[in-house]
Amino acid sequence: MEEIRDIKSMRERARALRASGKSIGFIPTMGALHEGHLSLARKSKSENAITIASIFVNPIQFGPREDYASYPVDFPSDFEKLRGASVDLVFVPEAKAMFPSGFQTKVDVENLSKPLCGPFRPGHFRGVATVVLKLLNIAAPDRAYFGEKDYQQLQVVKRMARDLDLSVEIVPCPIVREPDGLAMSSRNRYLSPDERAAAAVLHASLVAGKEAVARGERDPARVCRVVAEKIGEQPLASIEYVAAANPETLQPLKEIGSAVLLALAVRIGKARLIDNFLIRT
Ligand code: AMP
Repeated sequence: MEEIRDIKSMRERARALRASGKSIGFIPTMGALHEGHLSLARKSKSENAITIASIFVNPIQFGPREDYASYPVDFPSDFEKLRGASVDLVFVPEAKAMFPSGFQTKVDVENLSKPLCGPFRPGHFRGVATVVLKLLNIAAPDRAYFGEKDYQQLQVVKRMARDLDLSVEIVPCPIVREPDGLAMSSRNRYLSPDERAAAAVLHASLVAGKEAVARGERDPARVCRVVAEKIGEQPLASIEYVAAANPETLQPLKEIGSAVLLALAVRIGKARLIDNFLIRT
């Protein structure tokens, strides 16, 4: 597996690959890789001649009181996993090179950034959209792969690609879960054994919400109450939000029609965990 750390070299390599007629699939990550990330890599492998992953803990998507300084970094193990998934190239830029002094341009996907995680993470999606646009410009992929675990991020990136006429296909990938249903996440590493056991309640609460919809419940507030009550059974978990939203606009639903995004953010110990179900009625 080739390793590139420098932006100019990455740009030149991508340009040469494209010129030789090779399609490029790209997986942007923040490292601390797990099966969720690797599922994106495998999908890219099946659809492109060359698969490039990036590892970059993006400083501008973290708020001042968030976990940028403590975000898990484990390059040797990440490289091993990427090699195991037969990724062709890993791009590992430095923060100083991505955001040199004087950097001042940000991409704001206005409306999709506002609901759900928006109020709890001001500036987060602006940081995500900005770094993703930079990475797409550098790696020039035909396709870029994003997990539905970060559903709002996926919608923001899709909208940005459409609005700014990017010549990349944004490919959504299903959530990979642990056997007890917990969505895989780099932040699961923050959980103590007790907290890890408690974290199964996120998935269990979404299952309860889905069952309520399957029984015919169409009032979003009542469905959210079912989800919140389930989470409430777990004393280590504290709810940031539970929402029943339109899967495209992410705005709160007044009534559940043909589809609903049940989304939540919950704090357990030091970890802020998110999860969602896209439910079709
Ligand atoms: P991150 O390293 O957390 O920024 O994630 C990099 C990419 O992997 C994003 O597109 C995530 O949505 C995706 N991802 C993270 N966890 C999972 C998961 N459990 N299942 C599927 N995709 C995931």
